[in-house]
Amino acid sequence: MLHIQNGIITDPAIAGIPLERAIIPKDASPYVRTGIPMTSIRGITNHNTGNPSPTADARAHAHWLAGVEARNEAYIGAHFFVDHRRIVQTLPINEVAWHAGDGQGPGNMSTVAIEICESQAAAAEANAILLNAALLITYPNWQIYKHQDWSGKFCPRLILGQGRWPAFVQAIRTTVNRLQAEAQPQPTPQPAPAPSPWAREAVKWAEATGLLRGRADGPAYQAPASREEVLAFLYRLHGDRHAQK
Ligand SMILES: [Zn+2]
Repeated sequence: MLHIQNGIITDPAIAGIPLERAIIPKDASPYVRTGIPMTSIRGITNHNTGNPSPTADARAHAHWLAGVEARNEAYIGAHFFVDHRRIVQTLPINEVAWHAGDGQGPGNMSTVAIEICESQAAAAEANAILLNAALLITYPNWQIYKHQDWSGKFCPRLILGQGRWPAFVQAIRTTVNRLQAEAQPQPTPQPAPAPSPWAREAVKWAEATGLLRGRADGPAYQAPASREEVLAFLYRLHGDRHAQK
């Protein structure tokens, strides 16, 4: 469960992956900071940046986005950039970004954009899976989309190009389950109840002589004894004598 204030994730990391905030200033280009509130979010749209340069990491893209001049471009913003080392949030998730290429359509107007960097793509993709999963845990009604769903553009091109989109979505589902299981508090083993004060002496003797042995669930001092357990106690006490005859 992520902690989010005014659309900005405040957690320092997601499952150990550093999460940085480089929120584009509100007075930046209106093509980047649209100022349009995203009141109803239906999910996440995944992209590849389209830039395989080794220096085109998440920080570089965030820096580039902050410097964008007012230009009329179909695609100009994203809420997150993810590379092999970190996740960088650049826009509040409750503000529309132009990323899906569908104008005022549902892609732009109601989904959060994740741009997956292409240098060291496998590691970047693994981090993107974690970010998708963390958002899904926080917002269970969200759906996972790809850029292609909105405008037909072949994006995220690395995932689509290798026919891995179904596997990518499945990996997000598996990660949701794993993170949720890890978040469950582990049951703390209860210490076995001590023998009753009146029986302490007898228990001490029985354990010292080997007459009383623990069971799989512990010493079980207060548990009722079955007939065969009673016979086993008697046998341990007297059995050797009879067996010798
Ligand atoms: Zn895209």
